[in-house]
Amino acid sequence: MLFNRTSKETAEKKAGIFERMKKALGTTKENLVSRIEAVLASKPVIDETVLDDLEGTLLQADLGVRVTDRVMEAVRLQHKKQLLSTPDDAKQEIRKELLKILEAGSTRGFAANSASPQVWMIVGVNGTGKTTTVGKLAARLSQDNRKILVCAADTFRPAAIEQLTVWAERSGAELIKSRSGIDPSAVLHDALSAASSRGMDVVLIDTAGRLHTKSNLMLELEKMRRVAGRKVPGAPHEVLLVVDATTGQNGLAQAQEFMKATGITGLIVTKLDGTAKGGILFSICQDLKIPVRFIGIGESLEDLLEFSPESFVDSLFT
Ligand code: GDP
Repeated sequence: MLFNRTSKETAEKKAGIFERMKKALGTTKENLVSRIEAVLASKPVIDETVLDDLEGTLLQADLGVRVTDRVMEAVRLQHKKQLLSTPDDAKQEIRKELLKILEAGSTRGFAANSASPQVWMIVGVNGTGKTTTVGKLAARLSQDNRKILVCAADTFRPAAIEQLTVWAERSGAELIKSRSGIDPSAVLHDALSAASSRGMDVVLIDTAGRLHTKSNLMLELEKMRRVAGRKVPGAPHEVLLVVDATTGQNGLAQAQEFMKATGITGLIVTKLDGTAKGGILFSICQDLKIPVRFIGIGESLEDLLEFSPESFVDSLFT
């Protein structure tokens, strides 16, 4: 659990969060689970034709080839053992395998809360929702009585700095920013000095998503990592990659690029509301084996949920 909560709060929040997640994932559910149910209901018995149709459905739902192969292998094995007597048995087998995929990505714990300040870099391509997510995280962590400092290090985009100023004001977080065009590492340096002297708990760093070339971007992020490590022992404690679910399999390709260059520790998948492509989350976990930490389900400050594999799968399958 990343945030402090009492058990009563936890129970109430869990129920509300589950309903919100279910609503946000409605279109993905239709694209994935409703179509699985339709295929399974198309014939009185599960035979090779049904299994082939099932495979096609999983592929079309943005699960990707490797997830589809893995799920179908499990389903076919159960079918061979004659353990799939009803459509629901097959559906539960798919659910079970998808949950295993998400859980395998989530085994590593979140950075320990002992180091102070905790330094989290938020990285990703422009437009994925980085700046919005930094604002949402600042709001969420501030509500938890943590002292938050936001560092506006996307100095290439004046609009991002303006946007962060508004989010920081709304969430009560402190903000360190500079004129646009300044070296992002210089802003980061100032932010980390301020965070240490002001006794901040968490520093959230909004980074640039576009430089002239991809290699420049990766070099810039690498430089920021070094600066962070020199200023605060063990920093950055988390490097969270923001992936836009609406981009489907392209999001996976982007994640692979960032993985190679920046040592991602976790993912934040945004815009799961209103997209049919939420299945990408399984594909990313299967291929990258990094945990999803949060999901974005809307444009408001409160539309960021802590990720739980079980709730995610349940909200699709119930
Ligand atoms: P950045 O360029 O990566 O910093 O992206 P922004 O934070 O500026 O976000 C780009 C757009 O995506 C904005 O219009 C946001 O309101 C929107 N956005 C961000 N997260 C979500 C989300 O979870 N759901 C929806 N529907 N929109 C989002």
